[in-house]
Amino acid sequence: MEAKEDFLIPNFYSLTDEDKAAIQNAKSQPPKADDWENGGLSGFKRRFKKSLKRLQNSHCAYCRTKVWDANNFFAIEHIVHKSDHPEWMFLPENLCLSCSRCNSHKGTKNVLVKVGATTYPNASTDFLIVNPYYDKYSDHIELVDGILYKGLTPKGRKTIQICKLSRYQLASYRAQINIANHPGQGMGARILRNIIMNPTLVDDLKDLIEEINDCIQEYKANLRP
Ligand SMILES: [Zn+2]
Repeated sequence: MEAKEDFLIPNFYSLTDEDKAAIQNAKSQPPKADDWENGGLSGFKRRFKKSLKRLQNSHCAYCRTKVWDANNFFAIEHIVHKSDHPEWMFLPENLCLSCSRCNSHKGTKNVLVKVGATTYPNASTDFLIVNPYYDKYSDHIELVDGILYKGLTPKGRKTIQICKLSRYQLASYRAQINIANHPGQGMGARILRNIIMNPTLVDDLKDLIEEINDCIQEYKANLRP
């Protein structure tokens, strides 16, 4: 995988005085369950996104694809879901950015080794999935041919399962970028061969092959003089 995809977030976001005041205000207003959607937090959310987007090289923490605001967007992701631990809702160490699809697949699933912790866990071994602050992605997940996600460790496999990184749309997106970047070099055929050799790494293999074939035909048509 490319170096810009294999980032480790070097530091937690540092709350500004304005952020702290907005968070304090959100916490003091009922209903507690809706704290995160409090309109007064928009400045904090904007500053957090801007800062983390830079630290994550504009890539999703879980699938490591580049996130474009035009057709996919960044969600502020609670690593430990806020329904399990509302007290960690605003902790910078519990927040990162993920694409909306990984965020939605991950949902409210548990990611902690020990459920019921009272202080925020601060080690790689405390998490069942790749934590972008503690775990180097490529130690746990291999991107086969730059397209398919293969778990190298229990943590890598759990991340793939929880965020559904085997979804065929993700492989299709990566394949289409590779084909577009290498026109006329047989890249499409090579990708198809590798996918067929690794059928267990992707859901809906038939749909994926169909989309890649369509993409190959489209590029062939465009390359014709
Ligand atoms: Zn993602």
